[in-house]
Amino acid sequence: MTIIVTSKNGLVGIQAAMEVLRDGGSALDAIEAGIRQVETNPDDHTVGYGGYPNLLGQVELDASIMDGRTLAAGAVGAVRDYPHPISIARKVMEYLPHVLLVGPGAERFAAEMGFEQEDLLTEAARQVWQERLRANMSDETLAQLAAQPDLWRWAKTVTSDPEQVGCTVNFIAQDAQGNIGAGVSTSGLAWKYPGRVGDSPIIGAGIYADNRYGAATCTGVGEMALRAGTARSVVLYLKMGFSLTGAGQQAMADLDDLTASAGGRMNLIALDSAGGHVGFSNAKDTTYLYMTAAMSEPEEAPRLHFPTR
Ligand code: ASP
Repeated sequence: MTIIVTSKNGLVGIQAAMEVLRDGGSALDAIEAGIRQVETNPDDHTVGYGGYPNLLGQVELDASIMDGRTLAAGAVGAVRDYPHPISIARKVMEYLPHVLLVGPGAERFAAEMGFEQEDLLTEAARQVWQERLRANMSDETLAQLAAQPDLWRWAKTVTSDPEQVGCTVNFIAQDAQGNIGAGVSTSGLAWKYPGRVGDSPIIGAGIYADNRYGAATCTGVGEMALRAGTARSVVLYLKMGFSLTGAGQQAMADLDDLTASAGGRMNLIALDSAGGHVGFSNAKDTTYLYMTAAMSEPEEAPRLHFPTR
């Protein structure tokens, strides 16, 4: 079935992605086109340009893409100054004998591939960053933050704030040929320790796609999906014969087994090879989007609530 499933913030890109599929484009082309729109959106402070920065005020982006036909994948982590990490991730998949590049190496590769640099920190994001830090530290500490010998203590304080902002964009698509792909892009947890990489660019944690069974992608506190291998778990449970809902439930239950300092939001969306889809969250009243080629507008669907500790 020709279908796209996204996290709710995929709304700004889902029509562009569907246009690609309607024109006969591949699932990967659709995912990249859709996610690029979200990365460009300055009002989305969790992805690409305008994303909230790390503790030192630097925007660091993570992204990944996976091809369900071949299980090929590409990813980048902690990339600065490039607004479209999803496209860099795709080039990693297509041009390198590697899956994941991080930091300066990823930026060097982006330059070699001809991507343009851009300052990603908007004034709106900078102000929120500064206010949040001011609520936790003196102006003097803030001015000297980069020189603090124990920056890790501040990372613990600021990122343990229950209102800490984070999110990510997830796209899963099945094209007219029945091929499945998945893509994820994020600025990660706001005020994270510099160099922190979450689940989004880790194949198996935040993303997995296999034509034979389906695909899954995650948003939420990446440390949880990293520890539980959540996206791969969903697909493996499908392979083991679970229904789509059963596979999602099992993967959420695995998150509940993370007893040491777990906690936090975790959400997933999943698609099976027949075009069935589902969303899960450990928070109440959350939704995701889906759109088939027959629909003129995306539909919002409730995520199944699965509380975890
Ligand atoms: N999963 C992302 C990360 O941990 C953040 C989020 O989706 O809230 O980097």
